Amino acid sequence: MIQITMPLNFLGTVYREIRQSLVDMGEMFELLEQPAEVTDKPGAPPLRVTGGKVELRDIRFGYDPVRPILHGVSVTVPAGRKVAIVGPSGAGKSTIGRLLFRFYDVTGGAVLIDGQDVRDVTQDSLHAQIGVVPQDTVLFNDSIRYNIAYGRPEASFAEIEAAAKAAKIHDFIASLSQGYETQVGERGLKLSGGEKQRVGIARTLLKNPPILLLDEATSALDSETEAGIQAQLKAMGEGRTVIAIAHRLSTIVDADRIVVLEAGRVIEEGTHDALLSRGGRYAAMWMRQQAGEENDAA
Ligand code: ADP
Ligand code: MG
Repeated sequence: MIQITMPLNFLGTVYREIRQSLVDMGEMFELLEQPAEVTDKPGAPPLRVTGGKVELRDIRFGYDPVRPILHGVSVTVPAGRKVAIVGPSGAGKSTIGRLLFRFYDVTGGAVLIDGQDVRDVTQDSLHAQIGVVPQDTVLFNDSIRYNIAYGRPEASFAEIEAAAKAAKIHDFIASLSQGYETQVGERGLKLSGGEKQRVGIARTLLKNPPILLLDEATSALDSETEAGIQAQLKAMGEGRTVIAIAHRLSTIVDADRIVVLEAGRVIEEGTHDALLSRGGRYAAMWMRQQAGEENDAA
């Protein structure tokens, strides 16, 4: 049973070994609309996640070599902790997520998971350990059951149902005449933003990865739907390492650490309270958003 309230201290959590089938990477890249530009080293071993510590060590990157985007970013996420990355649009937040997932290779520094450079392990094993809840969950033109089971196709129906219940989408699915066999996507039933997001959460819960990457996971939703989904994302983060990329600061006040990124550099970091009392950029963003202004793009 997933609990909505949870302790913030996750230290000492031991992850059970993840044994899940690997998703087809062609489909995965299609799903996330990113090109596969990197390859496995010959004989690369699989990533072995022991706790889920994520370390960005002075990473540098540009999509185009003449236009650097990240100018040496260092962020450490201890195993089982939640670190938020915030900042104006264009700062490079999503790019950090793509480098963690190794859609691209850094041009300087390194991305390490439990001490292993992501370039030294197989991409399949890396992708199996990271659950991504993107801004807009993409559905395949297939059944709801297939869409939830996508990250773990061998899951039993009972497991699929349990994930849907935890993501608060089961009752909706059960109300459809075809139930879990209902066809969704462009050629089937159109789901609302909130329903799609719940399918995405169910998919990630079923995949059960030790590391979660939430990229503005609820920014497209109205605030009531967002509040419900935030509670589920929070529950899903229990016992996992979470990197939450956020535009709306209200969703990340509980993070163990908040990193403020601007123009590819970390300009501030600390807890919500520490950053507020510092009275710097984060505090200004917070005041602006509290005043009801959604757009903090500088
Ligand atoms: P954020 O998520 O903080 O809004 P991004 O990481 O998406 O920022 O983007 C950082 C910068 O990189 C922006 O200037 C953006 O235009 C550029 N960028 C993002 N994706 C690509 C891409 N696929 N190709 C080239 N430039 C990109
Ligand atoms: Mg982004």
